[in-house]
Amino acid sequence: MSKLAKSAELFEKAKKFIPGGVNSPVRAFKSVGGTPVYMAKGSGAYMTDVDGNTYLDYVGSWGPFILGSMHPRITAALEYTLKNIGTSFGTPIEMEIEIAELLCKIVPSLEMVRMVNSGTEATMSAVRLARGYTGRDKIIKFEGCYHGHGDSFLIKAGSGALTLGAPDSPGVTKGTAMDTLNATYNDIDSVKLLVNENKGQIAAIIIEPVAGNTGVIPAKPGFLAALRELCTEEGIVLIFDEVMCGFRVALGGAQSLYGVTPDLTTMGKIIGGGLPVGAFGGKREIMERVAPLGDVYQAGTLSGNPLALTAGLETLKILIDENPYPELERKAVILEAGFNDNLKKLGLNYVQNRVGSMSCLFFTETPVVDYSTAITADTKKHGKYFHSMLDQGIYLAPSQFEAMFISFMHTDADLEKTIKANYNALVASSK
Ligand SMILES: *Cc1c(COP(=O)(O)O)cnc(C)c1O
Repeated sequence: MSKLAKSAELFEKAKKFIPGGVNSPVRAFKSVGGTPVYMAKGSGAYMTDVDGNTYLDYVGSWGPFILGSMHPRITAALEYTLKNIGTSFGTPIEMEIEIAELLCKIVPSLEMVRMVNSGTEATMSAVRLARGYTGRDKIIKFEGCYHGHGDSFLIKAGSGALTLGAPDSPGVTKGTAMDTLNATYNDIDSVKLLVNENKGQIAAIIIEPVAGNTGVIPAKPGFLAALRELCTEEGIVLIFDEVMCGFRVALGGAQSLYGVTPDLTTMGKIIGGGLPVGAFGGKREIMERVAPLGDVYQAGTLSGNPLALTAGLETLKILIDENPYPELERKAVILEAGFNDNLKKLGLNYVQNRVGSMSCLFFTETPVVDYSTAITADTKKHGKYFHSMLDQGIYLAPSQFEAMFISFMHTDADLEKTIKANYNALVASSK
């Protein structure tokens, strides 16, 4: 009997009723082969699958689990809300003010914020707002950056699309595609060229200030500041998509780490504490254009619902109370150094990129600074590496172009175990 017999059985059944058997493409094992693992229970830094195998989790629900799965304070807060408040009202509730005020306090550029239900909703709404505010149509994004699955963004869109080899999706109209221009990450000249060719037509530049959907690619020193300057000069709305890096690389997000202030910020993942949440916010003058105060429409039946806000608020409070960031950095350095030792021992020169607790081991010797250097990675070798890690009980994202996340719950012993597994998996990947 295979170790993953029950997962394989469930996957066969799922494929009959769900396209590709999954509710989000990145969960399929398309780029690494094999069948997805069905998880049955999460606890801290660990997950157990339906066959009873236990894994050390470095996916963290794709980013939200900076405090691990089922943090006791978060589950207790959720239980309280379920028993004493309710799951939804469709009316204003006090908790909405609490989280909005807290977010404005934590994230430097926020003066007003609107809660939504996913990162995708946040980015779609922020771009509509930027277009309404500027009266312009076009946007600039960066090749390999992912901003959710809104039509405007599905043009050279990073991990999910990249893994499936279909960066441009059917169903996105030519008109929409024409309004999205792609620049090269870390290359300010590529942005200036597009701005000059489309003078007075660019509504927004949207960027992941730490790119996390083409593996991990940090912005080079000065790059974000140069974007800020260009946007100010040209009247372009600068949007930092901090859905992944917000509250991850620092409590105040990449904008506080690098000291660059965007006009709008999109958030998600960690501020949902494992429940579906997104948010967008920024300068008062721009946010005042959002309905019902302004004329740019945006709405949501379940936006700001008590359960999602409870998990989000409790997560933020724990992050403030416990300040896990120095500890996350210490752990991330241990892992990075351990992997580097292994690479050295094996005579391999693969690249590791890291910002705080998000990192990526690229199976290439080319320094990875943008999309074109990222795709020099050997995805076949990565596939072998992934399966060896999985077999040793280490759950990584099933794609070369995804981040590896460390949580506050990963212990030093967990890291040691991971470093040992990494050595074996690197050996396996070279065969
Ligand atoms: C995950 C992600 C999104 C999309 O968020 P969803 O909640 O999956 O819709 C948008 N932008 C970035 C940078 C992300 O990492």
